Amino acid sequence: MGKLTGNHENDQHFDIFLDFDGTITTTDVCHAMVKALAGEGWQAINQQWENREISTVECARQTLKTFRQQEPEAILQIAESIPLEKGFGAFVQAAQQAGHRLYILSDGYELYIHHLLKKAGISLPVYANRMVFKPEMDIETPYSEPACGQCGVCKCKLVRRLSRNDGKSVYIGDGVSDYCPVKEVDFVFARRQLLAHCRQQGIAAWPFEDFHQVLQQMEALEKSMRSGTHERQ
Ligand SMILES: [Mg+2]
Ligand SMILES: [Zn+2]
Repeated sequence: MGKLTGNHENDQHFDIFLDFDGTITTTDVCHAMVKALAGEGWQAINQQWENREISTVECARQTLKTFRQQEPEAILQIAESIPLEKGFGAFVQAAQQAGHRLYILSDGYELYIHHLLKKAGISLPVYANRMVFKPEMDIETPYSEPACGQCGVCKCKLVRRLSRNDGKSVYIGDGVSDYCPVKEVDFVFARRQLLAHCRQQGIAAWPFEDFHQVLQQMEALEKSMRSGTHERQ
């Protein structure tokens, strides 16, 4: 741990953007929640979202309406059954010690993300949708982008807004909502649908199974960048 040393002299600190569902967690919390609590018809709604035929807001609004239980406790209970990916805590600690900046960008919900991070003793900035329970379940999207019209949390826009001009940026993700932001960064870690998408689109991406692998690759990357800097001197 703590081997990501960064390079203070040359300010080679990374902006690291992380998807949450299925990236930081082993499987998709949002999907598990919908599977457990949504009523008839959610599969068709979800398929339309995956095909980009309806937006995140439309998808969520239609799906949340069908929920058989409408309390936060029911959602947190499901979230607690899904573990964080191996090595995530160690990765966060090493990255923070090295002076890198980490951001969670999720088209899921703040409610369970904050809950699971808190349980793991991890504190990171989270950009996600909000779940409303009264008068009925609904979604609020403080990080949407009118020009996009697709995402609840427009990750492309956030990556552009949060990236510092002088540093390198990294994106780590697994799904459809990550297709856009991977085009905005210098380095990509991908698995599942996102990895297939990157390969199809010719976007360079490192595959990963867990965060021990991400940490190892990040260390190698830093090393090569440091030696690259050396050559120029
Ligand atoms: Mg995901
Ligand atoms: Zn967008």
